[in-house]
Amino acid sequence: MIRFNDSVRDRFIRYTTYDTMSDGNACGKKRPTTDGQEELLLLLKKELEELGLETYYGEEKVVMGVLKGNTEGTTIGFMAHVDTADDCNGNNVKAKVWSNYDGGEINLEDGVTLDPSNDRDLLLYRGKEIITSDGTSLLGSDDKAGVAIIMEAVKYLVEHPEVKRPTIEVYFTPDEETGSGMDMFPYDRIKSQCCYTVDGEAEGEVEIECFNAATVDILLKGVSIHLGSARGVMVNAVTMASHIVTALPQAESPEATDGRYGYYCPLTLSGTATEARLSVFIRDFDKEKFEHRIESVKKIVSAVEALYGGEIKADVSVSYHNMAEANKKNPGAIEAVYVASKELGLPIREEIIRGGTDGARLAETGVSCPNLYTGGHNLHSLKEWIAVEAMSNSVNLCLGIINYWSKR
Ligand SMILES: [Zn+2]
Repeated sequence: MIRFNDSVRDRFIRYTTYDTMSDGNACGKKRPTTDGQEELLLLLKKELEELGLETYYGEEKVVMGVLKGNTEGTTIGFMAHVDTADDCNGNNVKAKVWSNYDGGEINLEDGVTLDPSNDRDLLLYRGKEIITSDGTSLLGSDDKAGVAIIMEAVKYLVEHPEVKRPTIEVYFTPDEETGSGMDMFPYDRIKSQCCYTVDGEAEGEVEIECFNAATVDILLKGVSIHLGSARGVMVNAVTMASHIVTALPQAESPEATDGRYGYYCPLTLSGTATEARLSVFIRDFDKEKFEHRIESVKKIVSAVEALYGGEIKADVSVSYHNMAEANKKNPGAIEAVYVASKELGLPIREEIIRGGTDGARLAETGVSCPNLYTGGHNLHSLKEWIAVEAMSNSVNLCLGIINYWSKR
């Protein structure tokens, strides 16, 4: 195993200094939604060019780099996103390195404490190196760690031309956290049959399944009249909307489910008696159940419409599908992960994502997109941390996967 600890740590910390928190409110108006993302994208483009890769950066605002292979073999890709979440402050990040972590509490600013008694994975890295923020922001391992890991793997291959490799494509995308990252993507340029996202969490985890996801946007129109003479005439859009919400099975909500269970989630509700809007998220791993859930919401909507006599319109938009189907069509995609980790002596375990990745969108075009770990923990929070050794192991895993595909 090659030790990338120092180089991947320094590279990651350098990337964390870019203010790349994305802004959901700017989706559709500005791409990337924040300027810092473009700054980092341009830096990555420059770094790839300095390493001798051909690059592309167009109106999609996705950096693409191609490292020509030195052997036949299947072209594969690696992908990571440059933006960070806005669940807590994500800008002005000051990374703190805890070398030789002693296994105790880590105290950051503003009373933020990492406590191994309820954050057990910390103990896996006793005596090793851990990175946190200073407690006033998230750290940004989601997904700058993925960016750093991919860059280190590419740099190694450039510096070691004797190592056999197929042609490698790398993609750095903006706005993953806003869900709009893949709205524009240079889909026609991609040659890879599988494209690994490096956007996971704990060391050893590889994710090959995600939710099928849809949103039902419901517009409810009531009939308004002076409340004094409303009897038998008024139709209240707020009442209709709340009836729909209470008709959704409460045991099948995100707060009541885990594992492979899907859910309904009323997420936004606004309006007046005259007009109201309600959006319902639908998630399920199983495609049939997913479609059944969409039909159920439509049935509830038409029942409420008939009951109250208002007018209700329900628009369904599918956000992404479970990438398991694309991964199954190309079994090599996941086999490569197992073969590589076995050769490296690294443990690996399959996990399912109760969410989606950019890979899920790419998988819809038939490209297999397993999601590899970065080593990050407590993502999107002030308590985010990452183990340097896990990042180094992830670089090795990427190189092992490349080795697998160089022979096929
Ligand atoms: Zn991510």
